[in-house]
Amino acid sequence: MNFSDYIRDIKDFPKEGIVFKDITPLLKDAKALNESTKALLNLVGNQKIDKVVGMESRGFFFAPILALALNAGFVPVRKAGKLPCTSLKEAYSLEYGNDVLEIHADSIIKGERILIHDDVLATGGTAAAVCRLIERMGGVVVQCNFLIELDFLNGAQKIEKYPVKSLLHF
Ligand code: AMP
Repeated sequence: MNFSDYIRDIKDFPKEGIVFKDITPLLKDAKALNESTKALLNLVGNQKIDKVVGMESRGFFFAPILALALNAGFVPVRKAGKLPCTSLKEAYSLEYGNDVLEIHADSIIKGERILIHDDVLATGGTAAAVCRLIERMGGVVVQCNFLIELDFLNGAQKIEKYPVKSLLHF
């Protein structure tokens, strides 16, 4: 199955100059959803995973599905101010300015093996901040897993000390 047939380019969204990779055509197609889930699981192989950490918000589509299949828990990383309990924070850089990501302080136990999942790896700033959060809690980042990697932005370099695996490369 050619998954790229189910990814739609939206020009100038959410702002001018960005080509947004819309994955909703893949999500709404039963076969594409099923096959892409299996392919994302194949990227993990038989590595033991305790928790899958997904990034707000499009990381939330697949991360819990992967967690279920891997017999792991799911942990959300959210934008500032959304989590109700005591959280750790990490600033990360955007194209213009900075933003903050948060994770519940009790969500990962020291030594737990973590799979990170997001829909798109672009500049890598988001994934790098999530790796920092996990390591501050003593978690072990086993792999960073993406549906789509935008190769021309070299995001994998920002997380080069971890295995990075993506289903699709553009
Ligand atoms: P970055 O931190 O630059 O790697 O950006 C990754 C985050 O921004 C991910 O959570 C993506 O959902 C989102 N993102 C960045 N670029 C795109 C794009 N071209 N299409 C869709 N989502 C994107």
